[in-house]
Amino acid sequence: MRFSGLRILKEGLTGNTGWGPHWRDPAPKDEYDIVIIGGGGHGLSTAYYLARNHGITNVAVLEKGYLGGGNVGRNTTIVRANYFLPGNSEFYSHSLKLWEGLEADLNYNVMHSQRGLINLFHSDGQRDAFVRRGNAMINQGDDAILLDRDGVRKHLPYLDFDNVRFPVYGGLLHPRGGTARHDAVAWGYARGADTRGVDLIQNCEVTGIDIEDGVVKGVQTTRGAIRAKKVGMIVAGRSGQVAAMAGMRLPIESHVLQAFVTEGLKPCIDHVVSFGMGHFYISQSDKGGLVFGGDIDFYASYAARGNLPMKEHVMEAAMTLMPMIGKARVLRSWGGIMDMSVDGSPIIDRTHVDGLYVNCGWNYGGFKAVPASGWCMAHLMATDQPHEVATGFRLDRFRTGRGILDEEGTGSQHNLH
Ligand SMILES: Cc1cc2nc3c(=O)[nH]c(=O)nc-3n(C[C@H](O)[C@H](O)[C@H](O)COP(=O)(O)OP(=O)(O)OC[C@H]3O[C@@H](n4cnc5c(N)ncnc54)[C@H](O)[C@@H]3O)c2cc1C
Repeated sequence: MRFSGLRILKEGLTGNTGWGPHWRDPAPKDEYDIVIIGGGGHGLSTAYYLARNHGITNVAVLEKGYLGGGNVGRNTTIVRANYFLPGNSEFYSHSLKLWEGLEADLNYNVMHSQRGLINLFHSDGQRDAFVRRGNAMINQGDDAILLDRDGVRKHLPYLDFDNVRFPVYGGLLHPRGGTARHDAVAWGYARGADTRGVDLIQNCEVTGIDIEDGVVKGVQTTRGAIRAKKVGMIVAGRSGQVAAMAGMRLPIESHVLQAFVTEGLKPCIDHVVSFGMGHFYISQSDKGGLVFGGDIDFYASYAARGNLPMKEHVMEAAMTLMPMIGKARVLRSWGGIMDMSVDGSPIIDRTHVDGLYVNCGWNYGGFKAVPASGWCMAHLMATDQPHEVATGFRLDRFRTGRGILDEEGTGSQHNLH
């Protein structure tokens, strides 16, 4: 089933009776070449690129709940390539390029909207840091424009520029940054993988990993044992638990990150805006809701819901930056489980077990990484070599200390990431 304007017109005229399910609901087979644990954005994109780029289609994605029920359907949908460190910047740059061709590639409307992202700064020191970051982005081949106060005012007239504690000094505009519809990304990759023969198996929790003589043999699941030549652990906030099934202890802590959406409003926020003096970011969805979030809750947890102090903190930051938001009513809030790595950068690597691979450590920025992560993880699983834009994402950096990618310069303090 291909989507096109003509098809939509035809279906509209014939009662929309011709649409079929977007993917099959197969029973698990006894054996696959590759099993992916986790049907989030990264698991699904890995399966898709295994089939699309490497012709490997005897693949199953095992998801304990429903596809898109994890962080991929819970995030604030920001897509950007404004990373600073070599190792990260080429990876996210690659990801943004994939985003730019994604809808045509998947034949699926993921509502990728390059509306521009503005990171605000509120002091001379912060401005200098953003100048450096902007230069790094330009050197990487991406785009960055430094805005002074009046430049920001032209784009975001509703900000409180003269806030006594945090006056707005300017901003770094990343024109190609923006948003995408999160669950459509999961559905688009799922449909693309399924069409190429990948089995997407929902309500199938992996409960054990079978290893013999240091070689992976398959997995135990709530729907029976499944043999596999290769297994990828791609479970975001559950990475520590799943890796423990293979006797591994990952340098990952799971923390809750909350997000909020208001009632639908007329268009008022055209960009993605992020506050430099508090952890707060906001955009407006196509339905009109203001979608915003802040920092992680500062305790390790597997509960996909957050606490009230962080809600209060986020609301305070919102009011400080744009007092007009006080008139909007919050419709709902939710939480997702973040896989916080010790240096704030991801892991895409082999493990000490032959045939067992790990993809995790996305912190609160893994949505934008979905295309490149799947691309690079598929490359690694197919060829046993790291992809050239993901060579820094090695697991052993945490053991040796070499190649640590401390993107925010905050060391191991999660609350400063
Ligand atoms: C509130 C919030 C806001 C965010 N905002 C942004 C943003 O604006 N921009 C951005 O880039 N990133 C953002 N993120 C981060 C981003 O959503 C995550 O980094 C990314 O989605 C994680 O990868 P994933 O999609 O594969 O995870 P998930 O969707 O969580 O996928 C993991 C899957 O593994 C499954 N699983 C776990 N254990 C098992 C098991 N034993 N067996 C089978 N399946 C299992 C889970 O059910 C889940 O579906 C945000 C996250 C949250 C929660």
